[in-house]
Amino acid sequence: MTRDEALALGRPEGGKAVKTKTPPDTCPRCGRSMAGRTWHSYLGHLGLHGLANNYFGGDMRAAQKRLQQNGLARQDPFPGNGAWPRYRPMTGQEVPRCGEKEDKDAVIVF
Ligand SMILES: [Zn+2]
Repeated sequence: MTRDEALALGRPEGGKAVKTKTPPDTCPRCGRSMAGRTWHSYLGHLGLHGLANNYFGGDMRAAQKRLQQNGLARQDPFPGNGAWPRYRPMTGQEVPRCGEKEDKDAVIVF
């Protein structure tokens, strides 16, 4: 179906409704301000809540840190040298491992 055919049937343009959505002023789960966020950023924040609750005991910072580390691990051109933490799937047993590198300079935004 083309755009013109969809409009002729009275259907909205794809994605237009989502594009105009605005997030609430504060997150209903944690109360953080959602000012200045897009709808998709808000959805990402809620997704981080879900990840944190399911795998990290509700610790948003730990969930964000794991996402960052796994993102870096997937971009590592030579994983064998151990320069970056290796990829670790979410298992539900997210405890720090002995000798795990701490990235204290990581920017945490959630
Ligand atoms: Zn929240």
